[in-house]
Amino acid sequence: MSTPGLHERLETVRAGIADAARLAGRSVDTITPIVVTKFHPASLVRELAGLGVHDVGENRHQEAQAKAAELADLGLTWHFVGQVQGKKARQVRGYASVIHSVDRESLVTALASDESGIDCFVQVNLTADPGRGGVEPARLEPLVEAVLAAPGLRLLGLMAVAPLGEEPRRAFARVRALSERVRPLAPEATALSMGMSLDYAEAIAEGATHLRIGTAITGNRPAHG
Ligand SMILES: *Cc1c(COP(=O)(O)O)cnc(C)c1O
Repeated sequence: MSTPGLHERLETVRAGIADAARLAGRSVDTITPIVVTKFHPASLVRELAGLGVHDVGENRHQEAQAKAAELADLGLTWHFVGQVQGKKARQVRGYASVIHSVDRESLVTALASDESGIDCFVQVNLTADPGRGGVEPARLEPLVEAVLAAPGLRLLGLMAVAPLGEEPRRAFARVRALSERVRPLAPEATALSMGMSLDYAEAIAEGATHLRIGTAITGNRPAHG
């Protein structure tokens, strides 16, 4: 069983990433594309693995946990990109290798562990709406310090979603500037998780190291309740 167009869409995005990297004078080896498979069945993730995909992203804990268990034989790297509830934090640690959405001190506390380290990004909210995921830029440094101080967490860098109504390249330039602002605190946390289906080329131009791409590869998400 194969999903119509999946291979073609994957190849189109791979070529788009290579083009954007070339334009930016960057090596594609510095860019990790993550295919966001939320709402799609495990069978689609298995197809993607067959096409050479190693990194997949999910944003809902129960769905992610079930798929990771069902597909454990594939050796995929699971990225959690959605809001993490404090009481589910330990469970997310169980299957995810990277958490892109650390956005508050209480979550850092919930994720901290003496077990082996998990990679994470601090998510920054680029909108004026506090209901959106991410820490507001004014509160970024204390959160970065909390992550650095927590056992079992390794800070890779910053994650953000470009707001609707802002030129994506400008939004990503803001993330890059925030990353430079925290550099003295966290010299090794240079990664930037930014860029989705419609704006990954702009993100690459501003230094993205981790792209989170869903529908451009998977096709439209199935309806969900
Ligand atoms: C769904 C999702 C994506 C992928 O979005 P597309 O527009 O389908 O590429 C990326 N990041 C996060 C945080 C998401 O929830």
